[in-house]
Amino acid sequence: MNYSVDDALCQEIALTEAPQEILFSLFKRFKERAAIVTSGQLSGMVLIHLAAENQLPFRVCTLDTLRLFPETYTFLEQVEARYGIQIEQIKPDPEEVHQMVTAHGEYLFFDSKAKQEYCCHIRKVRPMQRLLETLDVWITGLRRDQSDARQQLRKSEIISSTKHPVLKVNPLLQWTTDEVWQFVRDNEIPVNPLLEADAEGHYYESLGCVICTTPIKPGESKRAGRWRWQNAPASEEDTKECGLHYSI
Ligand code: SF4
Repeated sequence: MNYSVDDALCQEIALTEAPQEILFSLFKRFKERAAIVTSGQLSGMVLIHLAAENQLPFRVCTLDTLRLFPETYTFLEQVEARYGIQIEQIKPDPEEVHQMVTAHGEYLFFDSKAKQEYCCHIRKVRPMQRLLETLDVWITGLRRDQSDARQQLRKSEIISSTKHPVLKVNPLLQWTTDEVWQFVRDNEIPVNPLLEADAEGHYYESLGCVICTTPIKPGESKRAGRWRWQNAPASEEDTKECGLHYSI
């Protein structure tokens, strides 16, 4: 039976409380047309863990910008081994990267906000758009408490900017950072070492590209570690996004 993405499904998912039930329902119906897309951060790892408990095949994808931290590549291999899965690494188009680098240089993101967004578009947004052509359901680990900008998120919504309607689902929308950490600890879920605080409390709040992502210190905004050279006022730091979740 073919299932379709429509308002009734969107509403059904929005009303389903338990993340595990949401995952079971979506992977059972949509199979490989549904995928968890994660950079391997805590929320994404919780989703992988819950999906694995469902005993159903499930698809996991990550956007490999070709600039991820070495620790992240190693970590993804560890996750594959732990859960017996293969994480699809979705890469940018080599020709698009070549054209961008030839025209603007390897480190164009230092030049301006516009060029940073252009780089993110080529290395993240375009690959995501191509991935979405293979999906009916895009499952993310986005949570409201990650930034002010993410307060407006809904548990499920239909994206119409894609070539066909895609249901975007955020099963952990309401989970707090403490709840996520508690679940990770209780279930011995693998954690990328970059996310662990060092002796002075510095840690990576998010896992992006090298250079563009830096650790934050206690008290800083959760998005402060991204593109630090842009020197956004503290009040605007929460709006720093790569465009992945706002331009698609
Ligand atoms: S985070 Fe930096 S290197 Fe990565 S895609 Fe965006 S601008 Fe480019």
